[in-house]
Amino acid sequence: GCTAHDVIVALRSAAAVVAEHRDELIRLDRAIGDADHGENMDRGFRAVVAKVDTAAPETPGAVLKLTATVLISTVGGASGPLYGTAFLRAAAAVSDVTELDGPTVAKALRAGMEGVIARGRAATGDKTMVDALAPAVEAAKSAAEAGEGPAKVLSVAADAAHQGAQATEPLVARKGRASYLGERSAGHIDPGARSTALILSAIAETAR
Ligand code: ADP
Ligand code: MG
Ligand code: MG
Repeated sequence: GCTAHDVIVALRSAAAVVAEHRDELIRLDRAIGDADHGENMDRGFRAVVAKVDTAAPETPGAVLKLTATVLISTVGGASGPLYGTAFLRAAAAVSDVTELDGPTVAKALRAGMEGVIARGRAATGDKTMVDALAPAVEAAKSAAEAGEGPAKVLSVAADAAHQGAQATEPLVARKGRASYLGERSAGHIDPGARSTALILSAIAETAR
């Protein structure tokens, strides 16, 4: 299973991938937003890594909760509170366990998505991060029910998230800043869906 230490390693990997894709996320957000998503996420995940290094939380839930707090206070924009809520709900969903297994990983992912939906009111097809999260949650559920461990649950979730993010390209945005563009938002991948997929695959790569 995944211990607090494993979750910290996963978050370091997420931070590295976000940093690596910072310019890409800026470009995506320049096309249908205000060109700050890469900057927002890079700032947030750098702060998360700095904080977990000093605070050393001892359970997966405590790591996720700390991550939420840091993201809420550093990312800003629309995505800060949404990612923050996702991590906060994921933390609450696993607050009673010391190691994450397949089912608890799937449960945390679902809780995170539900938090994003509760906060942002987006449905699938609205061209937001929910379009990456929803297929990830379903894939994770199936894998967990089939008895897969956390590594496999995360890897199928990440693959589904990438497909979901890619599928936002032709969509017209109905939530967030991109929705101000109306039909002109079509033809570009949603930056938040892309960052969600990148973060999930970075996390999946470190899971065992
Ligand atoms: P801002 O739009 O405030 O500049 P960011 O650029 O950091 O914030 O994040 C934009 C991303 O946030 C979008 O690409 C989208 O995925 C996500 N987003 C915006 N509004 C919503 C919402 N209501 N529900 C879900 N996701 C949303
Ligand atoms: Mg933006
Ligand atoms: Mg902004």
